[in-house]
Amino acid sequence: MSVLDSKTPEGPLSEKWSKYKDEVNLVNPANKRNIDVIVIGTGLAGGSAAATLAELGYNVKTFCYQDSPRRAHSIAAQGGINAAKNYQNDGDSVYRLFYDTVKGGDYRSRESNVYRLAEVSGNIIDQCVAQGVPFAREYGGLLDNRSFGGVLVSRTFYAKGQTGQQLLLGAYSAMNRQINRGKIKAFNRHEMLDLVLVDGKARGIIARDMVSGEIERHSAHAVVIASGGYGNVFYLSTNAMGSNATAAWKIHKKGAFFANLCFTQIHPTCIPVSGDHQSKLTLMSESLRNDGRIWVPKKQEDAEAIRTGKLKPTELKEEDRDYYLERRYPAFGNLVPRDVASRAAKERCDAGYGVNKTGAAVYLDFSAAFMRYGSETAKTQHIENPTNEKIIDLGKAVIESKYGNLFEMYEKIVDQNPYETPMMIYPAVHYTMGGIWVDYNLQTTIPGCYSLGEANFSDHGANRLGASALMQGLADGYFVLPYTIGNYLANDIRTGPISTELPEFELAEKNVRDQMDRLINNKGTKSVDHFHKRLGKIMWDKVGMSRNAVHLAEAIDEIKALRDEFYKDVRVTGTANEMNPELEKAARVADFMELGELFAKDALHRNESCGGHFREEYQTKDGEALRDDENFKYVAAWEYTGNPAEAILHKEELNYENIELKTRSYK
Ligand SMILES: Cc1cc2nc3c(=O)[nH]c(=O)nc-3n(C[C@H](O)[C@H](O)[C@H](O)COP(=O)(O)OP(=O)(O)OC[C@H]3O[C@@H](n4cnc5c(N)ncnc54)[C@H](O)[C@@H]3O)c2cc1C
Repeated sequence: MSVLDSKTPEGPLSEKWSKYKDEVNLVNPANKRNIDVIVIGTGLAGGSAAATLAELGYNVKTFCYQDSPRRAHSIAAQGGINAAKNYQNDGDSVYRLFYDTVKGGDYRSRESNVYRLAEVSGNIIDQCVAQGVPFAREYGGLLDNRSFGGVLVSRTFYAKGQTGQQLLLGAYSAMNRQINRGKIKAFNRHEMLDLVLVDGKARGIIARDMVSGEIERHSAHAVVIASGGYGNVFYLSTNAMGSNATAAWKIHKKGAFFANLCFTQIHPTCIPVSGDHQSKLTLMSESLRNDGRIWVPKKQEDAEAIRTGKLKPTELKEEDRDYYLERRYPAFGNLVPRDVASRAAKERCDAGYGVNKTGAAVYLDFSAAFMRYGSETAKTQHIENPTNEKIIDLGKAVIESKYGNLFEMYEKIVDQNPYETPMMIYPAVHYTMGGIWVDYNLQTTIPGCYSLGEANFSDHGANRLGASALMQGLADGYFVLPYTIGNYLANDIRTGPISTELPEFELAEKNVRDQMDRLINNKGTKSVDHFHKRLGKIMWDKVGMSRNAVHLAEAIDEIKALRDEFYKDVRVTGTANEMNPELEKAARVADFMELGELFAKDALHRNESCGGHFREEYQTKDGEALRDDENFKYVAAWEYTGNPAEAILHKEELNYENIELKTRSYK
């Protein structure tokens, strides 16, 4: 085991980033033209990085597996993006955003990175507004904000329930300008399948053209991995179906340490699972918790009557409802952080108060908001003595203007009108705080290989607060990497083009071809999805919302056995030299089979509960997460040694010099 150096600059927290920028090595414009950078992923992190690096003058090649960068999973982001602008004059500041994020992450994130994130957050909004991103505005034309969980201010900028889509269109148009100038060469429908190292440095990739099946070599002076998170190791998640961990896992196998895998976010407001047929879960944005109140019946017999259809939720009297978040956490109420809200929902459902047929659902109810907004509108519109119906109608119109598309989506999926009956929600896997370990420069443990956005182990610690992933991805891409990568590339100005004829490229290409052939020639009897579903079930049942040492040890054995079975019995139809979605899936699931095991190993080694990692053995009398700062105040970064079971642990100690470590309380 080694102790990892985060390469955080010296000096006071608030001056570190400015000092870094003052002293960092620069590459002059003429030399930038001779330097190539590969960016894997064109979501918000990769897209913003590619556009900015190309604008600076580097030659950029981008890769994504969709047919257009516009289809990256980032497009799904609904609720919003945080920034410390203090437009609401409610006491926000860079320090408060920094503080909330570190506390929200249960004191398991790196102070210096989070402070930098908060510092550049305002620039992101300015950048996106300049690109034409249509953020919601107030009556007077100023940008509007709403609140997200775990904070006491309103700092979330949004575009209805489509914030990710609008931000991605901004990044994509910035990319397009560079594609047009010839500074970005975009390889869509291309999947990176390996990283090529030359003299220990990242110098290129092997990619598969997903339309022709051709295997290609691409070289560069640096490689940036912005390939998103690994939530789909659970099979069912709110992530896009194609989201996968292959790029991150391949660089892990080449020497990049993978950190804090067990820090995975379970989001409290998703549409509940309805049966075995499902391959995807749908998020109902956290922004809905601004106006929706979460409850279950107070009495088990009422819950039972609702489950069997004998009682409607709207018929249950106010005094018979248990607004359990408001009861348990009066200070934050329905806006407690996601991990807290998720566990509280599970606790109520496990105790027999769930409200759908499976017993795994709670209500998210807008009736109070209809009344509140309706009364306000009636007053502002000078409507004298409005009836209750009128008030409710006015309130519904306000809610529709804020969340209309989310309500529509819910009705389409559940076939119930959420304006008439409360929504049903339940926690689901949503976001991965763990990922590739990076230093302050966003460089992995492989020289010249960087990682951004959800793919890196990120600034969120053990729990991500809502609206902070978009902030981090865009901070990394627009404002951090463009500085830090120059520091490394300044040493490459005399290197010249990297040849793809080097033996290192040949070997990496051969390995990729061998893997494809192995999968195609396996001729087993079971589909890739069959194995993915079984992996997901092990992960959810034994490595899911709450974990214990016995289950984790069982999960490790079960995943190993499943992996062996996968290689004996998976059947991949078609050939390698054509468009073949089954082959793509098989290669991704093969990586999930290894990642899942390391995930369970990481969860087993962390003998504490913090944020999204809840170990049943470590909880307070009230069932809250019990951290162990003395023994686990570190980032756990794993080194690959040929087998996930034998991965070597390296630690980055987290020093909190500017924030006092406290029990995380939202009461
Ligand atoms: C439903 C939903 C709603 C959300 N809402 C919010 C929100 O309101 N606010 C917020 O802050 N966060 C939100 N999040 C989280 C946030 O959307 C994501 O964390 C973020 O968009 C990830 O961006 P990214 O650029 O890191 O990765 P992604 O957007 O996932 O992009 C990954 C890119 O990598 C490419 N790629 C992957 N592997 C390969 C490979 N092997 N070869 C080539 N290309 C590859 C893909 O093609 C894609 O271009 C939400 C998440 C979900 C699931």
